Amino acid sequence: MSNVKETVLEINLAHLTHNYNYLRSKLKLGVKLLAVVKAAGYGSDAVVMAKHLEKIGADYFAVAYVSEGIALREAGITTQILVLHPQPINFLALINYQLEPSLYSSRVLKEFIAIAETKKQKEYPVHIKLNTGLNRLGFWENDVDDIIDHLNETDSIRIRSLFSHLAASEDHNEKEFTINQINSFKKTASEMIDQLGYTPILHQSNTSGVLNYPKAHFDMVRTGIGLYGYGNETIYDNQLKPVASLKSVISQIHMLEPGETLGYNRAFTADSFTKTATIPIGHADGIGRQYGNKKGFVTIHGKKAYIIGNVCMDMIMIDITDIECKEGDEVIIFDNSSSAAIIAEGAGTISYELLTAISPRVKRIVIDNN
Ligand SMILES: *Cc1c(COP(=O)(O)O)cnc(C)c1O
Repeated sequence: MSNVKETVLEINLAHLTHNYNYLRSKLKLGVKLLAVVKAAGYGSDAVVMAKHLEKIGADYFAVAYVSEGIALREAGITTQILVLHPQPINFLALINYQLEPSLYSSRVLKEFIAIAETKKQKEYPVHIKLNTGLNRLGFWENDVDDIIDHLNETDSIRIRSLFSHLAASEDHNEKEFTINQINSFKKTASEMIDQLGYTPILHQSNTSGVLNYPKAHFDMVRTGIGLYGYGNETIYDNQLKPVASLKSVISQIHMLEPGETLGYNRAFTADSFTKTATIPIGHADGIGRQYGNKKGFVTIHGKKAYIIGNVCMDMIMIDITDIECKEGDEVIIFDNSSSAAIIAEGAGTISYELLTAISPRVKRIVIDNN
């Protein structure tokens, strides 16, 4: 792409289409694809992602919070939106914006019914979250009767889907646990369907569920990270294309003599002549302090340059002793060839965290080659 002159996050829509098609190719005909666009579309731009995904055929969207769903509606997104983790205080707004709640406990179910009744709703679409072992959100297997009792008392809501979430679908050592989760979901879902007298959409898989557990596809899958170009495993990463590339420039170059120190708390000491570059991106932009002190690196003209010293709020310093470069040259934090998964791993974290940390202060540039 073009050389950048400041810190930018480039968002490549052709890559999004590629990833979408790849994930689709893993699904049987008729299985719906729900695109997860929470957390600013995994740190990119939720509206840009959702508009493009809506255009290329995503069946459903999910966000974490009601405010994220409202932002999509206000931007003109009309596709159904599941809110994965709503709080009762936002139920009125949720209904006003035609968002669909995940109801994950009796407390939340009761509060939602009360508000739906006040708003005189009939068969408002809701999604029942079942806990099958992640133990994060969701009804337990023995809550089924309680759910049915609540439903029998009202016609204000109707169950649009029953769903659950896998705890370790990317971890092949946890196959047995995952299969137990799939079986537990099947069992609870069929108990509920028997008592409901109708069949909601069933869904359980995230991206790694899509890739590793065809048996867990059911009627719909919920994919987030895969759409953004990461497959949680090298074999899948190689098939996908990172949508976001984080780029910056060299602001200034310094020469350190042996014994000189660099940055806050003098965390780096030069043991020989060291050429350093200062880059306008810091922890306030999403490059956390865990990337400092050679845990993280950037790429300049195809060469690795480690972050030295502590990460500052608005800048990092890197070691360019062996790299031919000058002030104003482009710096890649992550892109196609040096991916966010690789950078994150060096600092003991995962692509999800690095991507979603990129703060609103970083300018987004959309590249649309259509
Ligand atoms: C975030 C999330 C997803 C998406 O997971 P990926 O691993 O990014 O595909 C799916 N389902 C739920 C409940 C989530 O919270």
